[in-house]
Amino acid sequence: MHTSSFEKRRSVQRKASKSKKAGRVLAKYSNRERNRARRHQLEIARVIQSLCGPVGLEELKKQGMFTRSRIWNRRISRSDWRSITRILVGRLGEARVVELDPYGSSSYCSRCGWENKDLNGAVFECKECGLRINRQLNAAINLYMRMSFGYTEKWGGGRKRVQLRMEGASRVAWWDRVVLPSLLGGCVLTGGAEGDQ
Ligand SMILES: [Zn+2]
Repeated sequence: MHTSSFEKRRSVQRKASKSKKAGRVLAKYSNRERNRARRHQLEIARVIQSLCGPVGLEELKKQGMFTRSRIWNRRISRSDWRSITRILVGRLGEARVVELDPYGSSSYCSRCGWENKDLNGAVFECKECGLRINRQLNAAINLYMRMSFGYTEKWGGGRKRVQLRMEGASRVAWWDRVVLPSLLGGCVLTGGAEGDQ
């Protein structure tokens, strides 16, 4: 629904400069679109809230992302994470909403930290510790770990490296103790278990 209104607005927008009537139609469609976007944001916020205790959101680096195809650009500007973040902060309080740097979260093994240069396919395979796991789930676990432990960002050789603050604790041992049971139980890992909702 949002999309169809969006497409209509786009076609009206091209004509808007030429006629006053088109200008009024444009105003109508952008209002509708705003309302729909708002409902959409509230719905996403509600779902995120029901899944998690403390909420970790990826930092939105819009400027960096506005480089690819037009379709991609439109998607980014419409899925307005800033607004969703604001809604969640309003409901949960600032202390319970964490912005996380997603950099590298899909290329590193969440269990041992090995870097996988092959980013194709739905399955992440670690050549170091042998972990085979759904790629998006691996990325989500990486983000969860960044939220739980905190992290530092370092630059070296022109590349950024995000490092967990694990204070010398064994990453693999933590993973096997905390993450593995939740996967065997068929559950998706969220902050829900330790959160009070
Ligand atoms: Zn590994």
